[in-house]
Amino acid sequence: MDIESVGVIGAGQMGNGIAHVMALAGYNVVLNDVNQSSLEMAIQRIQSNMARQVSRGKITQADMDAAIRRIQPSEKLAHVGATDLVIEAATERETVKQSIFDDLLPHLKPETILTSNTSSISITRLASRTDRPERFMGFHFMNPVPVMQLVELIRGIATDEQTFATCQQVVKRLGKTSASAEDFPAFIVNRILMPMINEAVYTLYEGVGSVKSIDESMKLGANHPMGPLELADFIGLDTCLAIMNVLHDGLADTKYRPCPLLTKYVEAGWLGRKTQRGFYDYRGETPVPTR
Ligand code: NAD
Repeated sequence: MDIESVGVIGAGQMGNGIAHVMALAGYNVVLNDVNQSSLEMAIQRIQSNMARQVSRGKITQADMDAAIRRIQPSEKLAHVGATDLVIEAATERETVKQSIFDDLLPHLKPETILTSNTSSISITRLASRTDRPERFMGFHFMNPVPVMQLVELIRGIATDEQTFATCQQVVKRLGKTSASAEDFPAFIVNRILMPMINEAVYTLYEGVGSVKSIDESMKLGANHPMGPLELADFIGLDTCLAIMNVLHDGLADTKYRPCPLLTKYVEAGWLGRKTQRGFYDYRGETPVPTR
């Protein structure tokens, strides 16, 4: 199936990145959010990120202008429904995603492929509540989308071969690489990454190290480009907690128990970079550890 247009639901940090790379690859994009100000911020973010790519010689000004023209912001799900491929990238909460799909279904073309950028929620379960489980799958980008090479493609139990092959082609056209993952909690990348981040929070919680010493240890001692707590702030602590809860519930193993300190940061609304405070405070010129 030929994909020409893509609908992106949720214009947060992932949604704006997905719209960015899709538009640069030549797809017409409808970018949707419930929140008008999120939509406006997303368009500004896309413009500034593309302008940076122009200044670094990665794309031309003409590429940028054409890509921006291909993005249509819209608060209406009916506009999203007219596209060939929908990527849902709203808040990582199953009830939110469920109600988005319920509201979207009446607007969809019969052949539209429906996907979710969820980091952890069961694709099979999300698919089973739609009218097209065979044309439903996981399309999981990494953050920041314009920079990261990998897209995890996750088949639900009912996903058909044509749907999978079509999504593989889209990833190829983006110039990215796909990895195929089976539909088990948190798939591959987060199944491995999140327990490490959670363990870093336990290490902080138990006083084994400070924010600074934990991050420095993993950067200099394990050659990671970012420390685990810095990375957690970058991903969003609410997203990290949601993924740990999915692992804990889905695999019923206490080794995935979310650290109470992670829960406390989320309860405080200290969600990381997006709220300017998490394991670091980003309100000044340089990030300052909060513990
Ligand atoms: P975010 O909080 O930055 O953005 C979520 C957006 O969804 C917000 O703009 C919000 O207004 C919007 N939204 C909420 N309800 C909506 C609705 N009913 N209709 C339309 N929009 C709605 O979150 P994010 O980090 O962009 O994460 C989005 C998804 O991507 C989640 O499923 C997350 O697990 C996944 N993901 C996140 C990362 C990451 O590193 N943050 C990486 C890969 C995948």
